[in-house]
Amino acid sequence: DERLVVVGGGQAAFALIARLRALKDMRPVTLVSDEQSLPYQRPPLSKKYLLREMTLDRLLYRPESWYAEHAIDVRLGRRVTAIDRAAKAVTLDDGATLAYGTLALATGATPRRLPDSIGGRLDGVFTLRDFRDADRLAGEMRPGRHALIVGGGYIGLEAAAVARTLGLEVTLIEAADRIVQRVAASATSDILRRLHTSRGVDLREGTGLAHLLERDGRVRGAELSDGTTIAVDLVIVGIGVSANDRIAQDAGIETANGVIVDINGRSSDAAIVAMGDCAVLPFADMLIRLESVQNAVDQAEAIAANIAGTPTLYHPKPWFWSDQYDVKLQIAGFGLGHDETVVRAGQREGSASVWYYRQGTLIAVDAINDARAYVVGKKLIETGSTPDKAAIENPATDLKSL
Ligand code: FAD
Repeated sequence: DERLVVVGGGQAAFALIARLRALKDMRPVTLVSDEQSLPYQRPPLSKKYLLREMTLDRLLYRPESWYAEHAIDVRLGRRVTAIDRAAKAVTLDDGATLAYGTLALATGATPRRLPDSIGGRLDGVFTLRDFRDADRLAGEMRPGRHALIVGGGYIGLEAAAVARTLGLEVTLIEAADRIVQRVAASATSDILRRLHTSRGVDLREGTGLAHLLERDGRVRGAELSDGTTIAVDLVIVGIGVSANDRIAQDAGIETANGVIVDINGRSSDAAIVAMGDCAVLPFADMLIRLESVQNAVDQAEAIAANIAGTPTLYHPKPWFWSDQYDVKLQIAGFGLGHDETVVRAGQREGSASVWYYRQGTLIAVDAINDARAYVVGKKLIETGSTPDKAAIENPATDLKSL
């Protein structure tokens, strides 16, 4: 069977099939997604969609007619439960089996929950991954209520911005020393901390959650790691995700919190590729998972070219963005392993950029309301050129001259 079976119906799955058809590869394709919607964009779920400024139909990549026109057999509301590698077939939760020539895993990731023992299952405790999560949460975000946000990563910070904008009281706790510690330098944490505290978020770093307090099965408060108790109406948990690699693991494919793939996107089984949030890939002699739209799309498109017969290697060019209040943060490159940062004040009030160096080489730029720093930084990283640190730091330097 020549059929391509795609497991998952998110960003990576859509990018894969769209590119495959754009390359005029017309092999039979079946897309199986356990969600009730056609593929849609996730980033607005913690931004404009949560603010109720966007509706689900505007998040869809394509309308239903597109899938029919491109001969994509779509199975919504169905889960793939098992992979039989010997028979080259998958089993769905309704017992049906689908034979594949190539199997594409684009299953994404699942938010980590708080342990049940500290109240993770109480009513009023939310994680945010799909549109139903966002709908439920939006229904609870009423002015004057007190939201506790657990986790100072991008999801937590974006949720805090939405909650404040909607008139809620917000306490955000981060167990690590500083917010966005895993993904950004301390200079960027400093800028984001100032932003949120200036908007009235009660931001507490180095503070964990001891346990939630309940009344009639619903959260009503929280005891923090420092012994403080606060009253709480709802809790938003943004403490990271785990890759949806279970079916791969069960089938004996190599995984490490994600399906391990090579630069062709192939797993340890040559007939099975994986991409997006569920994949672990080689990057600068590390194995990493990149949870971003850019990675999901670029990796899926490279894999589509491979499937269509044009050998294509995937070298990630990380790019990420985040919207918080009226601030746009854009990140070019990958700051992991940096040993020095340079902060540059922007042209406008409140704009700035943080430049990351590793052994003297520019590796990443965080631009805060500073599109020019982002564009120039991205180009410099892509071409492998490293600007002088003193020139970057000097606000009089015209970035374009670099
Ligand atoms: P997903 O989009 O998660 O798709 C996976 C799909 O597979 C899901 O529909 C899932 O239900 C389905 N599935 C899983 N297992 C099975 C199975 N066994 N059978 C059938 N279907 C299955 N990235 C950015 O770059 N910028 C941002 O600003 C940004 N903001 C974000 C905000 C939010 C709230 C979230 C949740 C994510 C955000 N991201 C952002 C990350 C980005 O959305 C993800 O990196 C991207 O969606 C990954 O695409 P994917 O296709 O790998 O996974």
